[in-house]
Amino acid sequence: MKILIPNLGSTSVKYRLFDFTGGDGTLLTRGGLERVSDHAEAIEQVLGELREGGWVGSEEDLAAVGFKTIMAEGRTGCLELTPEVVDSMEACNNIAPAHNPPYIRGIRLFAEKMPSVPLVGLFETAFFQWAPEASTRYAVPQSWHDAGVRRWGFHGASHKFIAERSAELLDREDVAERARNLYVDAGLPVDRSPLRVVSCHLGGSSSISGILNGAAVGNSMGLSPQSGLPHNNRVGDLDSMAVLHMMRRDGLSVDDVETALCNEGGLKGLSGGHNDIRDIASEADSGNAQAKLALDVFVHSARHWLGAYFAQLNGLDALVFTAGIGENRASIRAAICAELDQLGIRLDAEKNEAARAEEAIISADDSPVRVMVIPTNEELVVAREVKRYLEHRRN
Ligand code: AMP
Repeated sequence: MKILIPNLGSTSVKYRLFDFTGGDGTLLTRGGLERVSDHAEAIEQVLGELREGGWVGSEEDLAAVGFKTIMAEGRTGCLELTPEVVDSMEACNNIAPAHNPPYIRGIRLFAEKMPSVPLVGLFETAFFQWAPEASTRYAVPQSWHDAGVRRWGFHGASHKFIAERSAELLDREDVAERARNLYVDAGLPVDRSPLRVVSCHLGGSSSISGILNGAAVGNSMGLSPQSGLPHNNRVGDLDSMAVLHMMRRDGLSVDDVETALCNEGGLKGLSGGHNDIRDIASEADSGNAQAKLALDVFVHSARHWLGAYFAQLNGLDALVFTAGIGENRASIRAAICAELDQLGIRLDAEKNEAARAEEAIISADDSPVRVMVIPTNEELVVAREVKRYLEHRRN
Protein backbone atom coordinates (compact mmCIF):
# COMPACT_ATOMS: atom_id res chain seq x y z
CA MET A 1 0.00 0.00 0.00
CA LYS A 2 1.71 3.18 -1.22
CA ILE A 3 0.77 6.61 0.12
CA LEU A 4 2.21 9.81 -1.33
CA ILE A 5 2.58 12.81 1.00
CA PRO A 6 3.19 16.10 -0.82
CA ASN A 7 4.36 19.04 1.31
CA LEU A 8 3.11 22.17 -0.42
CA GLY A 9 4.73 25.47 0.48
CA SER A 10 4.11 28.82 -1.13
CA THR A 11 7.29 28.40 -3.24
CA SER A 12 8.12 24.71 -2.84
CA VAL A 13 6.68 21.27 -3.57
CA LYS A 14 8.31 18.44 -1.65
CA TYR A 15 7.17 14.87 -1.21
CA ARG A 16 7.72 11.57 0.55
CA LEU A 17 6.38 8.23 -0.66
CA PHE A 18 5.63 5.57 1.97
CA ASP A 19 4.87 1.88 1.62
CA PHE A 20 2.70 0.19 4.26
CA THR A 21 2.82 -3.32 2.78
CA GLY A 22 3.16 -5.44 5.90
CA GLY A 23 4.70 -2.63 7.95
CA ASP A 24 4.29 0.60 9.80
CA GLY A 25 5.38 2.87 6.95
CA THR A 26 8.67 2.50 5.06
CA LEU A 27 10.00 5.56 3.30
CA LEU A 28 10.43 4.50 -0.35
CA THR A 29 11.66 7.78 -1.78
CA ARG A 30 11.57 11.52 -1.24
CA GLY A 31 12.30 14.60 -3.29
CA GLY A 32 11.00 17.96 -4.28
CA LEU A 33 11.44 21.30 -5.90
CA GLU A 34 12.31 24.71 -4.46
CA ARG A 35 11.64 28.19 -5.89
CA VAL A 36 8.42 27.01 -7.51
CA SER A 37 6.32 29.62 -9.31
CA ASP A 38 3.90 27.28 -11.11
CA HIS A 39 2.52 24.59 -8.78
CA ALA A 40 0.78 22.70 -11.63
CA GLU A 41 4.08 22.35 -13.46
CA ALA A 42 5.89 21.35 -10.26
CA ILE A 43 3.32 18.66 -9.43
CA GLU A 44 3.56 17.34 -13.00
CA GLN A 45 7.34 17.18 -12.55
CA VAL A 46 7.03 15.32 -9.23
CA LEU A 47 4.67 12.75 -10.79
CA GLY A 48 7.12 12.41 -13.71
CA GLU A 49 9.97 11.75 -11.24
CA LEU A 50 7.90 9.08 -9.49
CA ARG A 51 7.06 7.42 -12.83
CA GLU A 52 10.65 7.50 -14.10
CA GLY A 53 11.97 6.12 -10.81
CA GLY A 54 9.56 3.20 -11.17
CA TRP A 55 7.83 4.17 -7.88
CA VAL A 56 4.36 5.01 -9.18
CA GLY A 57 3.51 3.66 -12.66
CA SER A 58 -0.17 4.61 -12.68
CA GLU A 59 -2.95 5.85 -10.41
CA GLU A 60 -3.67 2.25 -9.32
CA ASP A 61 -0.27 2.13 -7.61
CA LEU A 62 -1.32 4.78 -5.08
CA ALA A 63 -3.72 3.95 -2.24
CA ALA A 64 -4.05 7.68 -1.46
CA VAL A 65 -2.41 11.06 -1.54
CA GLY A 66 -2.21 12.47 1.99
CA PHE A 67 -1.85 16.15 2.84
CA LYS A 68 -0.69 17.94 5.98
CA THR A 69 -3.59 20.34 5.62
CA ILE A 70 -3.69 23.43 7.83
CA MET A 71 -7.22 24.37 8.84
CA ALA A 72 -10.84 24.26 7.74
CA GLU A 73 -13.91 26.11 8.96
CA GLY A 74 -15.80 24.01 11.49
CA ARG A 75 -13.80 20.80 10.93
CA THR A 76 -10.64 19.06 12.03
CA GLY A 77 -9.22 15.53 12.20
CA CYS A 78 -8.29 13.23 9.32
CA LEU A 79 -10.78 13.81 6.51
CA GLU A 80 -11.31 12.93 2.87
CA LEU A 81 -10.74 16.13 0.89
CA THR A 82 -14.07 16.34 -0.88
CA PRO A 83 -14.95 19.59 -2.69
CA GLU A 84 -17.01 20.58 0.41
CA VAL A 85 -14.05 20.11 2.74
CA VAL A 86 -11.79 22.06 0.37
CA ASP A 87 -14.39 24.85 0.32
CA SER A 88 -14.31 24.94 4.12
CA MET A 89 -10.51 25.25 3.94
CA GLU A 90 -10.92 28.14 1.54
CA ALA A 91 -13.15 29.87 4.09
CA CYS A 92 -10.01 30.12 6.32
CA ASN A 93 -7.72 31.71 3.71
CA ASN A 94 -7.90 35.06 5.50
CA ILE A 95 -6.68 33.44 8.71
CA ALA A 96 -3.82 31.42 7.18
CA PRO A 97 -2.92 33.34 4.01
CA ALA A 98 0.60 31.90 3.77
CA HIS A 99 -0.44 28.30 4.39
CA ASN A 100 -3.94 27.40 3.20
CA PRO A 101 -3.90 28.65 -0.43
CA PRO A 102 -0.94 26.50 -1.64
CA TYR A 103 -2.64 23.40 -0.21
CA ILE A 104 -5.99 24.22 -1.78
CA ARG A 105 -4.31 24.78 -5.15
CA GLY A 106 -2.35 21.53 -4.83
CA ILE A 107 -5.33 19.44 -3.73
CA ARG A 108 -7.40 20.66 -6.67
CA LEU A 109 -4.54 19.89 -9.06
CA PHE A 110 -4.14 16.35 -7.69
CA ALA A 111 -7.93 15.84 -7.95
CA GLU A 112 -7.72 16.79 -11.63
CA LYS A 113 -4.64 14.71 -12.41
CA MET A 114 -5.54 11.62 -10.36
CA PRO A 115 -9.34 11.51 -10.18
CA SER A 116 -9.51 7.90 -8.96
CA VAL A 117 -7.04 8.31 -6.05
CA PRO A 118 -8.51 9.26 -2.63
CA LEU A 119 -7.15 12.58 -1.32
CA VAL A 120 -7.05 12.69 2.48
CA GLY A 121 -5.94 15.49 4.81
CA LEU A 122 -4.70 15.36 8.39
CA PHE A 123 -5.40 18.86 9.69
CA GLU A 124 -2.66 20.58 11.69
CA THR A 125 -5.30 21.54 14.27
CA ALA A 126 -6.32 17.91 14.95
CA PHE A 127 -3.81 17.18 17.71
CA PHE A 128 -5.29 19.88 19.95
CA GLN A 129 -8.87 18.55 19.98
CA TRP A 130 -8.51 17.38 23.56
CA ALA A 131 -6.96 20.53 25.04
CA PRO A 132 -9.01 21.83 27.99
CA GLU A 133 -11.66 24.29 26.84
CA ALA A 134 -10.28 27.01 29.11
CA SER A 135 -7.04 26.92 27.12
CA THR A 136 -8.83 27.27 23.78
CA ARG A 137 -11.08 30.25 24.58
CA TYR A 138 -10.29 33.87 23.90
CA ALA A 139 -12.11 36.37 26.10
CA VAL A 140 -14.16 37.70 23.18
CA PRO A 141 -17.90 38.23 22.89
CA GLN A 142 -19.82 35.00 22.31
CA SER A 143 -20.64 36.05 18.74
CA TRP A 144 -16.90 36.16 17.93
CA HIS A 145 -16.39 32.75 19.46
CA ASP A 146 -19.34 31.45 17.44
CA ALA A 147 -17.62 32.84 14.33
CA GLY A 148 -14.64 30.55 15.05
CA VAL A 149 -12.41 33.00 16.95
CA ARG A 150 -10.67 30.62 19.36
CA ARG A 151 -7.29 29.03 19.86
CA TRP A 152 -6.84 26.09 17.52
CA GLY A 153 -3.12 25.27 17.70
CA PHE A 154 -0.96 24.18 14.76
CA HIS A 155 2.05 21.99 13.86
CA GLY A 156 -0.14 19.12 15.08
CA ALA A 157 1.60 16.43 12.99
CA SER A 158 5.01 17.44 14.32
CA HIS A 159 3.95 17.66 17.99
CA LYS A 160 2.15 14.31 17.66
CA PHE A 161 5.34 12.73 16.33
CA ILE A 162 7.23 14.15 19.31
CA ALA A 163 4.53 12.84 21.69
CA GLU A 164 4.95 9.33 20.28
CA ARG A 165 8.73 9.30 19.90
CA SER A 166 9.55 10.93 23.24
CA ALA A 167 7.42 8.32 25.03
CA GLU A 168 9.23 5.53 23.16
CA LEU A 169 12.63 6.97 24.08
CA LEU A 170 11.57 7.29 27.72
CA ASP A 171 10.49 3.63 27.76
CA ARG A 172 6.85 4.58 28.25
CA GLU A 173 5.25 2.21 25.76
CA ASP A 174 1.87 2.76 27.46
CA VAL A 175 1.98 6.48 26.59
CA ALA A 176 3.46 5.84 23.12
CA GLU A 177 0.59 3.45 22.39
CA ARG A 178 -1.95 6.04 23.56
CA ALA A 179 -0.30 8.77 21.45
CA ARG A 180 -0.22 6.57 18.34
CA ASN A 181 -3.92 5.70 18.70
CA LEU A 182 -5.16 9.11 19.80
CA TYR A 183 -7.36 9.73 16.77
CA VAL A 184 -9.02 6.33 17.13
CA ASP A 185 -9.38 6.13 20.91
CA ALA A 186 -8.41 9.18 22.96
CA GLY A 187 -9.66 7.38 26.07
CA LEU A 188 -6.83 4.83 26.30
CA PRO A 189 -5.55 4.80 29.91
CA VAL A 190 -1.86 4.89 30.86
CA ASP A 191 -0.36 2.41 33.30
CA ARG A 192 2.01 4.54 35.31
CA SER A 193 2.55 8.12 36.49
CA PRO A 194 1.55 10.91 34.07
CA LEU A 195 4.14 11.67 31.37
CA ARG A 196 4.62 15.43 30.93
CA VAL A 197 6.43 16.71 27.85
CA VAL A 198 7.02 20.14 26.34
CA SER A 199 7.65 19.97 22.60
CA CYS A 200 9.47 22.93 21.01
CA HIS A 201 9.03 22.99 17.22
CA LEU A 202 11.43 25.79 16.33
CA GLY A 203 11.92 26.57 12.66
CA GLY A 204 10.87 29.08 10.01
CA SER A 205 7.55 28.77 11.79
CA SER A 206 7.68 27.96 15.50
CA SER A 207 5.32 26.63 18.13
CA ILE A 208 5.50 25.07 21.58
CA SER A 209 3.07 22.49 22.96
CA GLY A 210 2.44 21.01 26.35
CA ILE A 211 1.72 17.27 26.09
CA LEU A 212 0.22 15.12 28.84
CA ASN A 213 0.19 11.34 28.35
CA GLY A 214 0.59 11.72 24.59
CA ALA A 215 -2.17 14.32 24.05
CA ALA A 216 -1.72 18.08 23.73
CA VAL A 217 -2.92 20.36 26.52
CA GLY A 218 -2.27 23.43 24.38
CA ASN A 219 -0.15 25.12 21.74
CA SER A 220 1.43 28.56 21.52
CA MET A 221 -0.29 29.24 18.20
CA GLY A 222 -3.87 30.41 18.47
CA LEU A 223 -6.55 31.25 15.94
CA SER A 224 -3.90 31.29 13.23
CA PRO A 225 -0.33 30.12 12.62
CA GLN A 226 0.68 33.80 12.92
CA SER A 227 0.64 33.83 16.72
CA GLY A 228 2.81 32.56 19.58
CA LEU A 229 6.58 32.83 19.08
CA PRO A 230 7.98 35.23 16.45
CA HIS A 231 8.31 33.36 13.12
CA ASN A 232 10.73 33.99 10.25
CA ASN A 233 8.72 36.91 8.87
CA ARG A 234 5.41 36.62 10.76
CA VAL A 235 4.71 38.53 13.91
CA GLY A 236 3.79 36.01 16.59
CA ASP A 237 1.87 37.29 19.62
CA LEU A 238 0.74 40.91 19.45
CA ASP A 239 -1.71 42.99 21.44
CA SER A 240 -4.75 43.42 19.18
CA MET A 241 -4.86 47.17 19.97
CA ALA A 242 -1.58 47.58 18.07
CA VAL A 243 -3.42 46.89 14.82
CA LEU A 244 -6.09 49.52 15.53
CA HIS A 245 -3.45 52.00 16.69
CA MET A 246 -1.36 51.70 13.53
CA MET A 247 -4.40 51.78 11.24
CA ARG A 248 -5.65 54.98 12.86
CA ARG A 249 -2.25 56.62 13.33
CA ASP A 250 -0.78 55.94 9.84
CA GLY A 251 -3.97 55.34 7.85
CA LEU A 252 -2.93 51.74 7.11
CA SER A 253 -5.36 49.60 5.13
CA VAL A 254 -6.23 45.99 6.01
CA ASP A 255 -3.82 44.84 3.27
CA ASP A 256 -1.03 47.08 4.64
CA VAL A 257 -1.48 45.54 8.07
CA GLU A 258 -1.48 42.03 6.62
CA THR A 259 1.79 42.71 4.78
CA ALA A 260 3.42 44.22 7.86
CA LEU A 261 2.39 41.37 10.16
CA CYS A 262 2.67 38.41 7.77
CA ASN A 263 5.65 39.38 5.57
CA GLU A 264 7.64 42.08 7.34
CA GLY A 265 7.33 41.08 10.99
CA GLY A 266 8.82 38.29 13.08
CA LEU A 267 12.58 37.79 13.09
CA LYS A 268 12.78 39.77 9.84
CA GLY A 269 11.13 42.79 11.40
CA LEU A 270 13.18 42.56 14.57
CA SER A 271 16.56 41.99 12.93
CA GLY A 272 16.13 44.63 10.25
CA GLY A 273 15.75 42.27 7.31
CA HIS A 274 17.08 38.75 7.98
CA ASN A 275 14.67 35.89 8.41
CA ASP A 276 17.03 32.91 8.56
CA ILE A 277 18.42 32.18 12.01
CA ARG A 278 21.85 31.34 10.51
CA ASP A 279 22.14 34.82 8.99
CA ILE A 280 20.78 36.47 12.12
CA ALA A 281 23.28 34.59 14.31
CA SER A 282 26.24 35.52 12.13
CA GLU A 283 25.10 39.17 12.10
CA ALA A 284 24.77 39.06 15.90
CA ASP A 285 28.25 37.54 16.18
CA SER A 286 29.67 40.42 14.20
CA GLY A 287 28.11 42.97 16.52
CA ASN A 288 24.74 43.77 14.92
CA ALA A 289 22.62 44.81 17.94
CA GLN A 290 19.29 44.40 16.13
CA ALA A 291 20.16 40.84 15.15
CA LYS A 292 21.19 40.09 18.75
CA LEU A 293 17.87 41.50 19.96
CA ALA A 294 15.97 39.30 17.47
CA LEU A 295 17.63 36.21 18.96
CA ASP A 296 16.93 37.45 22.50
CA VAL A 297 13.24 38.03 21.75
CA PHE A 298 12.94 34.58 20.18
CA VAL A 299 14.54 32.91 23.21
CA HIS A 300 12.48 35.02 25.65
CA SER A 301 9.28 34.00 23.92
CA ALA A 302 10.26 30.31 23.92
CA ARG A 303 10.96 30.47 27.68
CA HIS A 304 7.62 32.20 28.24
CA TRP A 305 5.75 29.30 26.62
CA LEU A 306 7.94 26.69 28.28
CA GLY A 307 7.03 28.24 31.63
CA ALA A 308 3.35 28.32 30.74
CA TYR A 309 3.23 24.60 30.02
CA PHE A 310 5.46 23.76 32.99
CA ALA A 311 2.74 25.29 35.17
CA GLN A 312 -0.14 23.73 33.28
CA LEU A 313 1.47 20.27 33.48
CA ASN A 314 2.54 20.69 37.13
CA GLY A 315 6.16 19.89 36.20
CA LEU A 316 7.99 18.23 33.40
CA ASP A 317 9.55 14.88 32.53
CA ALA A 318 10.98 15.80 29.14
CA LEU A 319 11.73 18.88 27.08
CA VAL A 320 12.13 18.20 23.35
CA PHE A 321 13.63 20.35 20.60
CA THR A 322 12.72 19.73 16.96
CA ALA A 323 12.55 21.34 13.45
CA GLY A 324 15.23 23.39 11.65
CA ILE A 325 16.30 25.54 14.59
CA GLY A 326 15.49 23.07 17.38
CA GLU A 327 17.44 20.26 15.71
CA ASN A 328 20.43 22.30 14.55
CA ARG A 329 21.09 25.36 16.73
CA ALA A 330 22.84 24.35 19.95
CA SER A 331 23.25 28.00 20.99
CA ILE A 332 19.48 28.64 20.89
CA ARG A 333 18.79 25.45 22.86
CA ALA A 334 21.38 26.50 25.43
CA ALA A 335 19.89 29.98 25.74
CA ILE A 336 16.36 28.61 26.21
CA CYS A 337 17.56 26.20 28.92
CA ALA A 338 19.87 28.65 30.71
CA GLU A 339 19.33 29.06 34.45
CA LEU A 340 16.34 26.77 34.66
CA ASP A 341 17.87 24.49 37.29
CA GLN A 342 15.04 25.43 39.67
CA LEU A 343 12.70 23.80 37.14
CA GLY A 344 14.92 20.71 37.01
CA ILE A 345 16.39 21.53 33.59
CA ARG A 346 20.18 21.12 33.35
CA LEU A 347 21.89 20.80 29.98
CA ASP A 348 25.14 18.97 29.33
CA ALA A 349 26.99 21.60 27.29
CA GLU A 350 29.09 19.09 25.34
CA LYS A 351 26.18 16.83 24.46
CA ASN A 352 24.20 19.86 23.41
CA GLU A 353 27.00 21.12 21.13
CA ALA A 354 27.39 17.68 19.58
CA ALA A 355 23.68 17.11 18.85
CA ARG A 356 22.77 17.93 15.29
CA ALA A 357 19.80 16.65 13.30
CA GLU A 358 19.73 13.31 15.05
CA GLU A 359 18.11 11.89 18.17
CA ALA A 360 20.11 12.78 21.26
CA ILE A 361 19.73 13.30 24.99
CA ILE A 362 21.39 16.62 25.79
CA SER A 363 20.62 17.00 29.51
CA ALA A 364 23.15 16.30 32.25
CA ASP A 365 22.94 12.81 33.77
CA ASP A 366 21.60 14.31 37.03
CA SER A 367 19.01 16.56 35.34
CA PRO A 368 15.52 15.73 36.67
CA VAL A 369 14.04 16.77 33.30
CA ARG A 370 15.31 14.83 30.28
CA VAL A 371 16.15 17.28 27.48
CA MET A 372 16.15 15.75 24.01
CA VAL A 373 16.65 16.54 20.36
CA ILE A 374 14.26 14.54 18.15
CA PRO A 375 14.11 15.19 14.40
CA THR A 376 10.45 15.46 13.53
CA ASN A 377 8.72 13.32 10.90
CA GLU A 378 5.45 15.03 10.08
CA GLU A 379 4.95 13.17 6.81
CA LEU A 380 5.07 9.79 8.56
CA VAL A 381 2.38 10.90 11.03
CA VAL A 382 0.17 12.02 8.13
CA ALA A 383 0.79 8.81 6.16
CA ARG A 384 -0.11 6.60 9.14
CA GLU A 385 -3.37 8.46 9.79
CA VAL A 386 -4.28 8.35 6.09
CA LYS A 387 -3.67 4.59 6.07
CA ARG A 388 -5.90 4.22 9.11
CA TYR A 389 -8.58 6.38 7.50
CA LEU A 390 -8.56 4.13 4.40
CA GLU A 391 -8.83 0.98 6.54
CA HIS A 392 -11.77 2.37 8.55
CA ARG A 393 -13.51 3.46 5.36
CA ARG A 394 -13.17 -0.06 3.98
CA ASN A 395 -14.64 -1.70 7.11
P1 AMP B 1 12.34 24.76 9.18
O1 AMP B 1 11.21 25.69 8.98
O2 AMP B 1 12.05 23.69 10.17
O3 AMP B 1 12.90 24.22 7.89
O4 AMP B 1 13.53 25.64 9.86
C1 AMP B 1 14.11 26.74 9.22
C2 AMP B 1 15.06 27.44 10.19
O5 AMP B 1 15.97 26.47 10.71
C3 AMP B 1 15.90 28.54 9.57
O6 AMP B 1 15.91 29.64 10.44
C4 AMP B 1 17.27 27.94 9.45
O7 AMP B 1 18.28 28.88 9.67
C5 AMP B 1 17.31 26.91 10.54
N1 AMP B 1 18.13 25.78 10.09
C6 AMP B 1 17.78 24.83 9.22
N2 AMP B 1 18.80 23.96 9.00
C7 AMP B 1 19.83 24.39 9.74
C8 AMP B 1 21.17 23.93 9.96
N3 AMP B 1 21.65 22.84 9.35
N4 AMP B 1 21.94 24.63 10.81
C9 AMP B 1 21.46 25.70 11.44
N5 AMP B 1 20.22 26.21 11.29
C10 AMP B 1 19.40 25.56 10.45
